[in-house]
Amino acid sequence: MPADDVAGSDFTRMQVLAFLGRKGPASRATMARELNLSPATVSQVTRQLIHQGVVEPLYFAPSEGGRPGQLLGLVGDSGRAVGAKVAADHVVLVDVRLDGQVMATHTEDFDATAEGAVSKLSGLLSSFVGRGLSRLLGVGVCVPGVVGRPDIGEVDAEVLGWAGVPLGSHLRQDLGVPVLVENDVKALAVAERLFGKAQERPNFVVLTVGRGVGFASVCNGAVQRGAHGGAGEIAHVIVSPNGRPCACGQRGCLEAYVGMEGLVDAGRTSRILDKGQGVDELRAAAERGDVRAREVFARAAQRLAQAIAPVLAALNPDAVLIAGEGVASWQYWDASFRNTLVHRLPHWMRQLPIEVDEWDDTSWARGAAALVLAAPLDRNASAGEQRPQVLARLHSSSSGRP
Ligand SMILES: [Zn+2]
Repeated sequence: MPADDVAGSDFTRMQVLAFLGRKGPASRATMARELNLSPATVSQVTRQLIHQGVVEPLYFAPSEGGRPGQLLGLVGDSGRAVGAKVAADHVVLVDVRLDGQVMATHTEDFDATAEGAVSKLSGLLSSFVGRGLSRLLGVGVCVPGVVGRPDIGEVDAEVLGWAGVPLGSHLRQDLGVPVLVENDVKALAVAERLFGKAQERPNFVVLTVGRGVGFASVCNGAVQRGAHGGAGEIAHVIVSPNGRPCACGQRGCLEAYVGMEGLVDAGRTSRILDKGQGVDELRAAAERGDVRAREVFARAAQRLAQAIAPVLAALNPDAVLIAGEGVASWQYWDASFRNTLVHRLPHWMRQLPIEVDEWDDTSWARGAAALVLAAPLDRNASAGEQRPQVLARLHSSSSGRP
């Protein structure tokens, strides 16, 4: 008997909802097979969900046995989460459905270093949530920094000028809903697993390029957090002792070479960029066919691959997913990254898939929302006390209560 075959349990219920959210309409037989549940359990759970207005019967599709099978689909609005990406100078807010669809988005200037920044953030979230958002399960926030525990949400983020900021408790008090806080790359990994490229991949890594460089690994479906939430923090690993100065105060960090500032600096040294020009101009030069600009990206890609190869060998993932603002210029990284990696990985890993994400301004914030939407499925308990609260809200929203 399958391990989770407990009809009507929170976990089974959420498994069915998440499956329909990810895959779209499916028959009961397909769900039973894919989720390793008995047909009786699936029938019972889906009957409850239909009764509660969360799932609806759709059309009939030809089934494998020739008999028509009825497909069930998610009533789109059965659960929503708000996600917020906090950057040093702006905040992006999104309203995301259980199936991952972004329903609304809002971007606002924000000075993370200003006094009262957390209260300002809370105010922004409060007015976003307060515009009549129904069936809200909770709020997820992602930050470019280290978070000890997502369910507590204390943030250390040098980029934001935050040290030990009790963001989670502040927001929970102000908003009165479940709040989960996480490092931005780890949140992105949760979204990849829930509705992205890693749905079928229990072991994968996310590598982000952009302003900085980020990394997260997922093993057996769980995002690795390490002892203090700092697992995957490779940006300030020293790749060149006494090398380029880094914003963190050290010299020779990986980020000092492959982050935005490093690229721009290399562009200036190579006389491709003038003062005041940035990474967009560098990409434009590469697009025009400027060999020196392409060389800047290729050298960064080589450094990145050199640094990441031993990490990948240690983790043996199913795939490497490339994300972040830098994917806009990834075509100029790609060949150098792959070639370097292939020569540094053990031979059995040389077919390792490297896939580039679609990226837009809402991608980080959507990751933050995924923290809430994935909480009911959270088996390594990083959602802590917030998980039962998210579940309770899912129950009440699906039984029609506000
Ligand atoms: Zn550094």
